[in-house]
Amino acid sequence: MKKNLKLAIQKKGRLSEKSMQMLRNCGLDIENFQERLIVSAANFNLDILFLRDDDIPEYVQENVAHIGIVGENVVLEKGLDVKIVKKLGFGRCSLSLGIPEKSEINSAGDLNDKTIATSYPNILKDYLNKNNVKAKVIELSGSVEIAPSLGVADYICDLVSTGNTLKLNKLKKSFKVLDSQAVLIKSKYLDDDPELKVLFDKLVDRIESSLKAKKSKYIMMNIPKESLNKIVEIIPSLKSPTILPLSDENLLAVHAVISEDKFWEINEDLKKAGASGILSLPIENIIL
Ligand code: ATP
Ligand code: ZN
Repeated sequence: MKKNLKLAIQKKGRLSEKSMQMLRNCGLDIENFQERLIVSAANFNLDILFLRDDDIPEYVQENVAHIGIVGENVVLEKGLDVKIVKKLGFGRCSLSLGIPEKSEINSAGDLNDKTIATSYPNILKDYLNKNNVKAKVIELSGSVEIAPSLGVADYICDLVSTGNTLKLNKLKKSFKVLDSQAVLIKSKYLDDDPELKVLFDKLVDRIESSLKAKKSKYIMMNIPKESLNKIVEIIPSLKSPTILPLSDENLLAVHAVISEDKFWEINEDLKKAGASGILSLPIENIIL
């Protein structure tokens, strides 16, 4: 029987749904996972293990899971011997300093002699050392944001995306200590097994093509024949655009693949150059 590559993802939390979605975007057929510890993809030699996110780096370090999807913040905090292969573009958040609404901090130096509560003591200590700051770090496993009102700490260092939790606790966001997003990690033993390495390379190829596709749009439009040169100049296409004749001899249809940001940038220029009926469609995969 062929070996399966084992991938660990978060069982229940902010990264679960998006990790599954990413795998499905790679064409993997995975049944609904609720309440299972492990499921296998129906069309790829892959087992998916559902774990607490904090445990994922350890499972991967020990090669129990060969690869994992987890927040970069967790990987850096654990400091285990795993390799970060790729940033995955979801689960974005930042580890930031939260200070009481009425406080002011202008530079890292203002943290000297202060007490900071956090669930990320290693990342925070690293940051303080790099900035030559001597502050006391208190490790709390959760509800860090209540520490200042309880008088346990002057400031906190916690994950923030909207800042709403900070506001509820009369805190505001100050410096960013780390930008984080979900990453793919792998065990250092993986490459020793040729069978697993083939599966891993195949999966990474698929992930890359689906990440590329997510950032791209397929656009279509009709243009007057005489605008062709102008339009081609405006479209920064992956490859040269497709030009098709239409039943109206004065018109042409132009199809191209462009990045999503570019689509909004060039929209106006395309219209000015005479393009009409501009459509943009999502792309599932791009194989270059
Ligand atoms: P578990 O039960 O698996 O230990 P958890 O409560 O530690 O879950 P979640 O809150 O689900 O973890 O967050 C998982 C990851 O999602 C974080 O480590 C971080 O990388 C990412 N994340 C994205 N946005 C946020 C946010 N606003 N707050 C916290 N984490 C976020
Ligand atoms: Zn956790």
